[in-house]
Amino acid sequence: MTAAVIAVDGPAGSGKSSVSKAVARKLGFAYLDTGAAYRAFAWHAAKQGVELTDEASVATALPSFSLAESTDPDDFYVAVGDTDVTAAIREPEVTAVVSHVAKVPAVRAHLTEIFRRMAASTTRPGIVIEGRDITTVVAPDAAVRILLTASEEVRMGRRSAELAGHSAHTVGEQLRQRDRADSHIVDFMNAAEGVTTVDSTELDFDQTVDAVIDVIHSRL
Ligand code: C5P
Repeated sequence: MTAAVIAVDGPAGSGKSSVSKAVARKLGFAYLDTGAAYRAFAWHAAKQGVELTDEASVATALPSFSLAESTDPDDFYVAVGDTDVTAAIREPEVTAVVSHVAKVPAVRAHLTEIFRRMAASTTRPGIVIEGRDITTVVAPDAAVRILLTASEEVRMGRRSAELAGHSAHTVGEQLRQRDRADSHIVDFMNAAEGVTTVDSTELDFDQTVDAVIDVIHSRL
């Protein structure tokens, strides 16, 4: 039996990672955080010393990129080779450069292949895959496709609460810059045809999880 694919896209700070993970846990599904893989590749490329703003140079780090990412929502980790990078990929140094590597077509093609393989190999009844281009590129045929949004103000508030110690202004500026850079790669602000929008602006965390589960139940 092949797993039901639940594709979830959305901008930074929309809560899609924590919501998708909670949804997967509740449904007994696997969970795939594709942003973590892009971050892991950015970490690896920086470590290789490649010129991160040069597409050809970034692509040279692909053959040596060995990713191990968990799809268990209760035991999440990301490793590159033998190095656990679960915490390192959340550092501001990685966040600042990830959009550069994510715009390289060879990188996107390589990671998309990895994501499809991971989805095909899960032994659970379903998999929640979250990112920016899941509903449109990685899994356009997914059983359920959701765009999770929230107003910019709410997204910034949530992100600065997560990154205690950083000023709200700095966090807001970084988030805006990253959204701007990422939206050149793929449109994750507007739902593609057949994609259901869940707007979490007025919802708390549990309500958002329930809203996503309602969409899944209505589609499966
Ligand atoms: O989701 P997260 O904020 O961790 O994603 C980190 C970065 O990875 C994004 O800013 C974007 O540049 C890239 N990304 C992407 N496509 C995806 C997921 C993430 O380009 N499907």
